[in-house]
Amino acid sequence: MQEIGTALTSHGKVVVRNKTYEREFIPLDEECDCYTCKNYTRAYIRHLIKANEILGVRLLSIHNLRFLTKLMERVRIEIENDNLLEFKKEFYNKYGYTKE
Ligand SMILES: [Zn+2]
Repeated sequence: MQEIGTALTSHGKVVVRNKTYEREFIPLDEECDCYTCKNYTRAYIRHLIKANEILGVRLLSIHNLRFLTKLMERVRIEIENDNLLEFKKEFYNKYGYTKE
């Protein structure tokens, strides 16, 4: 189950609610082209989540939906290139999944 305040990124999961991100003035995912990543920092989104401001989860949803859309685009490309299993392995490693 996904924890509230979690972003899916090209480098794995970012639990933005964690104190680690308190002073990270960078986007959730520097490789992402969504509205949230273009306009807000991890530190600000963390602040919103901690303050129970609804904008925090809304910004995370915008990012996570864009991430999933791009992931599906990538999956289609990997299927066409007959490379899906390799991509799956790479993806699971980033997300810490141990099962194949
Ligand atoms: Zn984004």
